[in-house]
Amino acid sequence: MKYRRRLFFVKNPYDTQTDSAFVRAVRENFSYHCAHCLEYHTIAAQLGVRADSFHAIQDIARLPCLPTLLFKRHRLRSAPALIRATSSGTSGNYSEIGFDIGGLLCALVMSCKIMYRRGLFSPVPCHYLIMGYKPHRSNRTAVTKTAFGATLFAPALSRRYILKYQDGAYSPDFEGILSALKKLDSAFFPVRFMGFPSYTFFLMQMMEEQGLHIRLKKGSKIMLGGGWKQFCAEQADKESFYRLAKKVFGIGDQDIIEFFGAVEHPILYCDCPNHHFHVPAYSRVVIRDVDTLQPVPEGTVGLVNLITPMVCATPVLSVMTDDLGVLHPSSSCGCGIQTPFLEIIGRVAPSEIKTCAAGAADLLKGGSVQ
Ligand SMILES: [Zn+2]
Repeated sequence: MKYRRRLFFVKNPYDTQTDSAFVRAVRENFSYHCAHCLEYHTIAAQLGVRADSFHAIQDIARLPCLPTLLFKRHRLRSAPALIRATSSGTSGNYSEIGFDIGGLLCALVMSCKIMYRRGLFSPVPCHYLIMGYKPHRSNRTAVTKTAFGATLFAPALSRRYILKYQDGAYSPDFEGILSALKKLDSAFFPVRFMGFPSYTFFLMQMMEEQGLHIRLKKGSKIMLGGGWKQFCAEQADKESFYRLAKKVFGIGDQDIIEFFGAVEHPILYCDCPNHHFHVPAYSRVVIRDVDTLQPVPEGTVGLVNLITPMVCATPVLSVMTDDLGVLHPSSSCGCGIQTPFLEIIGRVAPSEIKTCAAGAADLLKGGSVQ
């Protein structure tokens, strides 16, 4: 996998000169899956796609594009996996993706480069409040692993989790987090939140309703991951999120960092200072027309197809999400990163989207985010 290694070891995670390295790594990854996964080989053969189909970057749109739903119904494998991670989901309706050691090494290198660029490495110890699942042996979700991983970039003085595992289920403990926060008021060390935007948002709403405003040490950050879509589909919610964070914690939006990713496309998308998800060198995004599935130009809304040659153990080279999104040129951001950025507009199945208010009501009844 020498081309994969070359791609993931480029110096700048937003390098714009990686097209030929990307195409070579795609060809290498495609050949590997065809040789080691019969189902993938059959799909590729039926589509008439071969390793020599890929010469230029636009050719990657010809890759067999597997819907995320396929990974929820079938366990495709190309090689033994060192670890397995799952998407969130109920009653067996989740994807399980295996990772080989080379893919994990790439993930580590990628995460370090992207987090470093966003200024998330710090020698200053901090207290972590994780607005997500407390790790448990029964929990193999990628969000739990990445939330824990995000607590390794500054030394941890403490870790407290909102979703605790008890009697076979997770339930949120807002009171526990609130009492921990009260103790951290005017604490000497900064605090870092990490986890679901919805839980963080509801916590801040509760604090606002109770008139509870806490001054966190300078350098405190709110890191968000796991998506808004279950609860907050509207961009306007982000603006009220930033306002609320300033009000209840004194944390400005420059210290609010959001991640985007999916277990079927394990690339770390981290927002830029203008809160845009620029596409890193390790990934390419093809936006497709919802009817014809043909690629559409930048600025046009369509289905989001994510491509990365990172994983050998599972054929997640090109996956079709159920997200609707749009790719914008880098010039519409202006932060200095030169790659285009992806905006997620919503989901194809709108019935799954709840409003913040409905989501809050579910949470307070003891439900948990899936
Ligand atoms: Zn930007």
